[in-house]
Amino acid sequence: MATIFSRIIAGEIPSYKVAENDHYYAFLDINPLAKGHTLVVPKQEVDYLYDLDDETLQGMIVFAKQIAQKIKAFSGCNRVATVVLGLEVPHAHIHLIPMNSEKDVDFSREKLVLTPEEFAEIAAALRE
Ligand code: 5GP
Repeated sequence: MATIFSRIIAGEIPSYKVAENDHYYAFLDINPLAKGHTLVVPKQEVDYLYDLDDETLQGMIVFAKQIAQKIKAFSGCNRVATVVLGLEVPHAHIHLIPMNSEKDVDFSREKLVLTPEEFAEIAAALRE
């Protein structure tokens, strides 16, 4: 069965898209730690990031870098944290999270609750 992220990539489940090319898809995390928290996903359905072939993994980091630069400009954060957990969804993905201090990437923290309009505005800003 397709993962929830494959269904998002296929457009079967809506998402706030940030970027897409032939191999990767980026969209806002629905339970963000900060405004701009983005997930970067390969279209190839592989559970564990380090099971990706070298070319796909390399390309994914370069794709993530382009988005991280936009997140940094958008949020004014010091840097963008790059986090790989994969505890919830068995489809390799990278979290890109605006960060000013270590506590900003504490996944046990309460997540932000944003309106659909706020999500749409952030995604539009990151797509520019
Ligand atoms: P992880 O697998 O890295 O532990 O966590 C998966 C992440 O995906 C979580 O931060 C969760 O909020 C996000 N997530 C799970 N399902 C969906 C979904 O349907 N849409 C979006 N946009 N994010 C999701």
